[in-house]
Amino acid sequence: MDNLARVHFPASLPEAADILRTRPGARLIAGGTDLLVKHRNGLLPDVTDFVDVSGLGLHEITLTEGQVRIGSACTMTAVAGHPLVRERFPALVQGTLQVGAFQIRNAATLGGNVGNASPAGDSIPPLLSLDAAALLFGPAGRRTVPLAEFFNGPGKTVLQPGELIEAFLLPDRRTAGAFLKLGERRAHAISKVSLALSCWESAHGRHEVRIALGAVAPTVIRCRKAEELLSAAPWPPATDLVAKARALVVETARPIDDLRSEKNYRRRMTGVLFGRALERVLV
Ligand SMILES: Cc1cc2nc3c(=O)[nH]c(=O)nc-3n(C[C@H](O)[C@H](O)[C@H](O)COP(=O)(O)OP(=O)(O)OC[C@H]3O[C@@H](n4cnc5c(N)ncnc54)[C@H](O)[C@@H]3O)c2cc1C
Repeated sequence: MDNLARVHFPASLPEAADILRTRPGARLIAGGTDLLVKHRNGLLPDVTDFVDVSGLGLHEITLTEGQVRIGSACTMTAVAGHPLVRERFPALVQGTLQVGAFQIRNAATLGGNVGNASPAGDSIPPLLSLDAAALLFGPAGRRTVPLAEFFNGPGKTVLQPGELIEAFLLPDRRTAGAFLKLGERRAHAISKVSLALSCWESAHGRHEVRIALGAVAPTVIRCRKAEELLSAAPWPPATDLVAKARALVVETARPIDDLRSEKNYRRRMTGVLFGRALERVLV
C-alpha cells in the first residue's frame, strides 16, 4: 500500500545505527514535524522504515568537562527552558523560541532541525554562533564535527550511512547574544533572513564575536571577516568599525529570489538584522 512505512523503536544507539545501515529506505524520526508532513504529502517515496529516537536516552542537557551537552532529542521547549542554556546562551534560547508555535516547539527537536539541514532552520544560526559541534554515533563509532562543517547544501549533511546525531556540544561560557528573524509574519513563519550574534569576553578588553546568517545561502553561514574585525578591536566597537562590519555581513550573504522573498531585500536585511542584534548585546 502507498504511504505506509514500518516504525522501529530501537533501545540502543548501536541498534538504531544497525537498522539505518542495513535498510537503505530507513530514516530516523524524532518529533516528526518535518518528516511526517513530507511523508503525508508523498514527498518521501523511497522511505520504507522510520527509526524512532525516543528510546535512545538522548533527552538530557548536562554540563561535563567544560562543555554543555544537549541531547539531540531535546525539544525546542526543553532547550529554551533549561537553566544551563538560559544562563549561558541567549541566542539559542531566542532561536528555539522562534520555531513555530507552542505545539510545534513541544515536539520539534534540535536534532531534527539540524538533521533537516534547511538553510532556514532557526536553531542553526545560534548553534553556529556558539561554536557548537555535533557528536555523531555510527557503525564506525563516535566522532565530533564542528557544526560549521556539518552541512553540504540544502538537506545535505556529512552524515554517513547508519550515522546519527547523538548530541550537541557547546563550550561552557557565559555569552551575550541575540537571534533575529524576518518572516512573512511576526511568528509562526519560515525565515526569509535570520541572524544570530553571540559574543563573550576574551583577553585585553576585547570580545570574541560570532555571527551566523540563515536563509541567505545554500547552508547557514558564518560571517568570518566581520567576526575577525569585531573580535580584534576594543569592546564596545567604535561606530566606524560597526559600519565596516555591517558591510562585511551584507557582502557575505548569497541569497536567491524564491517564493518567500527577493535576493536584494534579503541581502539588505542582513545588515539591518546585524545592527539590531549588536544593539541588543550592547545594552
Ligand atoms: C507548522 C510548522 C511550523 C514550523 N516552523 C518552523 C520554524 O519557525 N522554524 C524552523 O526552523 N522550523 C520550523 N518547522 C520545521 C520543524 O518543526 C523543525 O525543523 C523541527 O526542529 C524538526 O524537528 P523534528 O524533531 O520534528 O524532526 P523530524 O521531522 O523527526 O526529522 C527531521 C529530519 O531530521 C532527521 N533527524 C531527526 N533526528 C535526528 C538525529 N538525532 N540525527 C540525525 N538526523 C536526525 C530526520 O531523519 C529528518 O530527516 C515548522 C514545522 C511545522 C510543521
